[in-house]
Amino acid sequence: MINENYEKVLNTINDVCKKCNRLTDDVSLIAVSKTKPVSALFEAYEAGARDFGENKVQELVDKYDKLPPDIRWHMIGHLQTNKVKYIADKVYMIHSVDSVKLAEEISKQAVKAKRIIPVLIEVNIAGEDSKFGIAKDECIDFIQSVNQLPGIAVKGLMTVPPFVENAEDNRQYFKALKQLSVDIMQKNIDNVCMDFLSMGMSGDYTVAIEEGANIIRVGTSIFGERDYFVKA
Ligand SMILES: *Cc1c(COP(=O)(O)O)cnc(C)c1O
Repeated sequence: MINENYEKVLNTINDVCKKCNRLTDDVSLIAVSKTKPVSALFEAYEAGARDFGENKVQELVDKYDKLPPDIRWHMIGHLQTNKVKYIADKVYMIHSVDSVKLAEEISKQAVKAKRIIPVLIEVNIAGEDSKFGIAKDECIDFIQSVNQLPGIAVKGLMTVPPFVENAEDNRQYFKALKQLSVDIMQKNIDNVCMDFLSMGMSGDYTVAIEEGANIIRVGTSIFGERDYFVKA
């Protein structure tokens, strides 16, 4: 089942890319495996998945130890400063940098782990009260206050747009994040590049790709619905 679902998502990515004249290889699929058991991740791995997304530090650490070492682990959820130390040597990319304090701690732990951690800035593109992320208008100032930190490299932007029934309703936000990344690129800020645009989930990733996403984070369409009441 997971195998078929994964193939289906890859085919959909392929179709959308063709339709909007993009290269399929330019779009990376992250299999969002939060709450799912290790057996489910193995199934996705067998189907070819190598990028997995988790939103809890403990869960990422547990799964890291049980799965093959060639997996790239992406931290996509809100990250508490005091937990960065547990994932600094494990995580491939952190998508959810949303405060100077967090950026400073990632920097500190990356230096300790003798590596550079690629990070994305999470942007609250729709200005929702309930969402984490830097406000759109504060994004450039924010980046200019973290770009000199050692051990971290700002590589792009990430957003979680509103939950909507109709994916088209989020097109405006995907467009806005893309435009923001272009604006930032034009500022030519030291140590900052805008290589990655992490946007689009199960309900809206086709629209996100049309608007320039090159990392999509897909959970439900690969693994099925999540049951938050059963311990994974
Ligand atoms: C859970 C989650 C996803 C995946 O959502 P689906 O709708 O299941 O595809 C993507 N991004 C983030 C940040 C998430 O927390």
